[in-house]
Amino acid sequence: MTSAPRPVSKFPLPLERVAGGGARTGAAPARSVLRPQVLVQQAAADAARRVVPSGLGLDSVEIRRRMVQRLQAKGLTAPGVIAALMAVARDRFVDSALVNQAYEDTSLPIGHGQTISKPSVVAHMIELLSQGAAARENASLGRVLEIGTGCGYQAAVLAQLAREVFSIERVRALHDKARVHLNALRETRVRLVYGDGRLGHAPNAPYRSIIAAAGGESLPQAWLDQLEVGGRLVAPVRSADGRQQLVVVDRGEQGLQRSLHDAVLFVPLKAGLD
Ligand code: SAH
Repeated sequence: MTSAPRPVSKFPLPLERVAGGGARTGAAPARSVLRPQVLVQQAAADAARRVVPSGLGLDSVEIRRRMVQRLQAKGLTAPGVIAALMAVARDRFVDSALVNQAYEDTSLPIGHGQTISKPSVVAHMIELLSQGAAARENASLGRVLEIGTGCGYQAAVLAQLAREVFSIERVRALHDKARVHLNALRETRVRLVYGDGRLGHAPNAPYRSIIAAAGGESLPQAWLDQLEVGGRLVAPVRSADGRQQLVVVDRGEQGLQRSLHDAVLFVPLKAGLD
């Protein structure tokens, strides 16, 4: 394997924006007890922050469009990724108390100490995946392996660009929750697997695209073994200074080529099952 540093892409930019942390609670205030004047002030503040007012109906498509436009302003250009983000209602994947934050560029708690990834991070990682040799040639991510299903949002976005997505989660309650979310959207291209994603998923290997939403000390050998020729893997890995960085691995005819990208902050890749 060779290490070829590549120019760091300009999207997404600073670490604090990329960070998966910053899990926020933040239930909406009980509006019934607020005076009209306060409601008007709150609506104006919401509008200024471009937040979806909760309880006032959710024009999800228009709000999603604004989210995608903000990601484009930050450098997202891949038309397929833009269309995929437009196609998936992120508000359907978060708890009702957090719906008014569903289209902000922030990670949100999904229970069990885990978070749904920030839209800009999801967009950037999928954009990187779509630039892999085989994905470019076939205009498809092909068969995808996702490690860390969480609430299922990223799996649903991947499915828009893939033949099928195998998504592994080690926390049973999240695996079950993702199934409810994906069933509600009638998303049939995602196969959910309950297991330790560090082992990959051999029964359906090889994969044209492998993407991890949790970061370990190194890339598990199983992931490299399960990557098809022409395929690409995108994952966070802890670097020598203890910080996480996105690593891209391409499998060519001659072997593996690895490049380092943006600084990121993902939840840890854990061993075993919960
Ligand atoms: N893509 C998800 C983000 C989930 S956060 C979404 O859109 O919501 C990362 C997830 O990785 C967590 O749910 C965590 O439980 C899971 N995870 C961590 N280590 C894992 C492992 N070894 N195998 C499978 N899942 C793992």
